Amino acid sequence: MNALELNKVHIKRGDIPIVHGVDIVAKPGEISVLLGANGAGKTTILEGTSGVIPIASGDIVLEGAQMCKASAGHRARSGIAHVEQGRTIFAEMSTEDNLRVGLHPESGLEQAYDLFPELKTRANVKSAMLSGGEQQMLVIARALLGKPKVVLIDEMSAGLAPVVVARLMQAVRLLADQGLAVLLVEQFANLALDIGDRAYVLRRGEVVYDGSCEILRNDPAMLHHLYLGDM
Ligand code: ATP
Repeated sequence: MNALELNKVHIKRGDIPIVHGVDIVAKPGEISVLLGANGAGKTTILEGTSGVIPIASGDIVLEGAQMCKASAGHRARSGIAHVEQGRTIFAEMSTEDNLRVGLHPESGLEQAYDLFPELKTRANVKSAMLSGGEQQMLVIARALLGKPKVVLIDEMSAGLAPVVVARLMQAVRLLADQGLAVLLVEQFANLALDIGDRAYVLRRGEVVYDGSCEILRNDPAMLHHLYLGDM
């Protein structure tokens, strides 16, 4: 079964239609990669899925349950985790206290520290003092501690050094290998295609490619044309 399904989802910003009837799935154990030029509507899709903004029409289905009328809080508790752009941390709180915010009552912090041992060594440090990469690890780890079924990750690599981005990509792959469904929005298409399974390329709010990451990985010209819109 798909963990997450978007069926014919339309989303507006104010009165302006931005997303025009997209079909997207995320499956347990897989990374679905959502690519596209700036302004294509990637962030809008993630926000519509987690309930940050409403959708105009279509279905959002989580493990068979209809979510599109549910509040953002209900969606989060049902298993849709959203790692938003911009690394929202409680800057005055320690790393560990930030993690506790996301904690499911029946779990401990081990999962976070297993994935990112870097955070354990920084557990008592005020999170404002963490590097950008560590802050990104923190918000991903915090999302996991709520025991989600699917995690939506928006441009986790923004502003980070390549070696840090590689580390984050490896961790996201590991999460999928452990059975989580991931929907990953990424500006560095090649890096995302390296770890991803299923790819979607979005252009002006429409899906213009829906297929394997491998095909795009092996055909840079095709990816280029998909971005530019002459294919
Ligand atoms: P980027 O890589 O730049 O984040 P994106 O593919 O994620 O691009 P969105 O951020 O979803 O694209 O933006 C899609 C369209 O919606 C753009 O035309 C953008 O100007 C518009 N838009 C985004 N956020 C808002 C907002 N809060 N209010 C009004 N319009 C918005």
